[in-house]
Amino acid sequence: MNTSTNGKVAIVTGASRGIGAAIAKRLAEDGFAVVVNYASSSKEADALVAELAASGAKAIVVKADVAKPDEVRAMFATAEAQLGKIDVLVNNAGVLKTVPLAETSDALYDQTFDINVRGTFNTLREAAARLADGGRIVNFSSTTLALNMPGYAVYNATKAAVEAFTHVFAKELRGRNITVNAVAPGPIATSLFLDGKTDEQIQAFAKMPPLQRLGQPEDIASVVAFLVSPDSGWVNGQILRANGGLA
Ligand code: NAP
Repeated sequence: MNTSTNGKVAIVTGASRGIGAAIAKRLAEDGFAVVVNYASSSKEADALVAELAASGAKAIVVKADVAKPDEVRAMFATAEAQLGKIDVLVNNAGVLKTVPLAETSDALYDQTFDINVRGTFNTLREAAARLADGGRIVNFSSTTLALNMPGYAVYNATKAAVEAFTHVFAKELRGRNITVNAVAPGPIATSLFLDGKTDEQIQAFAKMPPLQRLGQPEDIASVVAFLVSPDSGWVNGQILRANGGLA
């Protein structure tokens, strides 16, 4: 257990599955009390909190659609009431559907921007008022932003917005000793990446990084663990591209 993070409070959005669940587990191991946020996968979120509690960690589950400002406000209020002042916000919740721009429906555009951009905006705005001085914020971009592959126009546009938030918000929090950074993962073996791809497509992605494998959720959880720890205290306003050297 990392004694310098012991007892601190972290909100991880989209922690029911995938990378978020791995982050919640890792931060719990590092001594954080963890808020496991989710929008619809209640069984997975409940099971994760039960697993964390069984291992002696403090964890609560909070349902909130990050796209809805009132639900985000309520999530922060519940977290504060049950665990105390919040030290860390990890903006992991996100969605991806790869569709050529010309075939993207209004509904898919709205959903992707609502969750990936408005969701991050909602939690950042709330964090400005509520995060403890000395806290940490980690946003989620993607290495796809650097690859410019067909089908990723809308998703990449949302991640470009998240990177812009990261750079500007780090400066707006001047004087609070709060760092704001983003992780930009390469392909990670979660349902967001795997769903809808053939085995051949998955293998092609796995061969792209010089490290010649897909990333695992734990590869990103360890990067987030660093960015929320005292060891990263001088890293601020940066995008950390954790992708096996892909781009
Ligand atoms: P995932 O396996 O599909 O999990 C997504 C998580 O986000 C789930 O826990 C889901 O919870 C939650 N979520 C979705 N909509 C939400 C909402 N409106 N409010 C709150 N939670 C919501 O995805 P992942 O691969 O772990 O991705 C996590 C982050 O990494 C995303 O920001 C993604 O863009 C980024 N990323 C992933 C990859 C990759 O290759 N996997 C690469 C680059 C970047 P519910 O099921 O409860 O809705």
